[in-house]
Amino acid sequence: MPIVAAYAAPSEGAPLVSTTIERREPGPLDVVIDIAFAGICHSDIHTVQGDWGPQHYPLAPGHEIAGTVAAIGSDVTRFAIGDRVGVGCLVNSCGECAACARGEEQYCTGGAVGTYGATDRDGTITQGGYSRQVVVTEAFVLRIPDAIPLDRAAPLLCAGITTYSPLRHWKVGPGTRVAVVGLGGLGHMAVQLAHALGAEVTVLSQSLRKKDEGLLLGADRYLATSDPETFSENKSAFDLILNTVSAPLPLDAYLGTLDTNGTLVSVGAPPEPLSYHASLLIGRRRSLAGSAIGGIAETQEMLDFCAEHGIAAEIELIDASAINQAYDRVLASDVRFRFVIDVATI
Ligand code: NAP
Ligand code: ZN
Repeated sequence: MPIVAAYAAPSEGAPLVSTTIERREPGPLDVVIDIAFAGICHSDIHTVQGDWGPQHYPLAPGHEIAGTVAAIGSDVTRFAIGDRVGVGCLVNSCGECAACARGEEQYCTGGAVGTYGATDRDGTITQGGYSRQVVVTEAFVLRIPDAIPLDRAAPLLCAGITTYSPLRHWKVGPGTRVAVVGLGGLGHMAVQLAHALGAEVTVLSQSLRKKDEGLLLGADRYLATSDPETFSENKSAFDLILNTVSAPLPLDAYLGTLDTNGTLVSVGAPPEPLSYHASLLIGRRRSLAGSAIGGIAETQEMLDFCAEHGIAAEIELIDASAINQAYDRVLASDVRFRFVIDVATI
């Protein structure tokens, strides 16, 4: 078993520490990736804090992985040594259910395998991208276009696809009025992607602190949710609201800003339940929805779309020794807009 350096949480809620993890011996269909960069997603923090239930420890998080191919198995056809590649939130799925057949492996009913903290098909527990190397079956490896620097590409593998997929599913295009709630890692990708799709984009942020950056990312309007007038002056103003907030929101206020037939999609996944008054849905035939990451084919489509439109994540590159401070800053909404670990420092 190859042993690789990693950063992992030794137990629930504990700070991450330098350690080693085991990777499987590469099989015929496996790609061995030298990881160069790994993004820090708020999901990593939810997971190691136990927000989403008990985990196996030690746990190395990280599902925004960018690097280069170090070796390939004998049956690998799509990748060669040295290729620029990425891995997102999934490393396997059943390949046989209706969702897999549709290319929506994220909704696999036969057992999708998450990049970390999941039981792999060989019974081992997966470990994520805060590590020097990963071994992934080629069907779950993405190609990173040359136009996107690897460090700024890493966050696309989760934050990018998680926002691209609902924007495409709800057919956002020229003239669609989109509100993005929360300008963090996911939110700043949502703004760039919705703008590139031709939408009219409004950011709903807790304050106006990041207004200049939000407008530069492509937002047409930037409003503070701490100001009650934001809600009273924007009744029925949006067709689609993309909620990227990691904490519970007072949904009724947001639902009131949706036009007739509008949809509020939550991609933010707080541990606490959300509640709303049914009348706010009924009175304007509004919908409340959720969306999970995206399938492999759509993730490749998103990467190619970003390359074509000059889109990438805005990042703060950190050494591995700063991971725990970065977690504290993400929890304090003090991130512009994604922390990315320089994996050479692990
Ligand atoms: P993030 O970088 O921390 O961004 C979340 C943003 O939400 C913050 O920057 C902040 O923006 C806003 N916010 C935070 N606390 C708030 C509060 N109490 N009230 C109102 N707004 C608040 O996190 P992220 O990495 O983008 O992830 C966001 C959420 O999406 C997490 O729950 C994560 O687990 C989830 N997620 C889901 C999927 C999926 O497949 N559905 C995939 C990835 C992540 P402002 O400062 O602008 O207000
Ligand atoms: Zn993520």
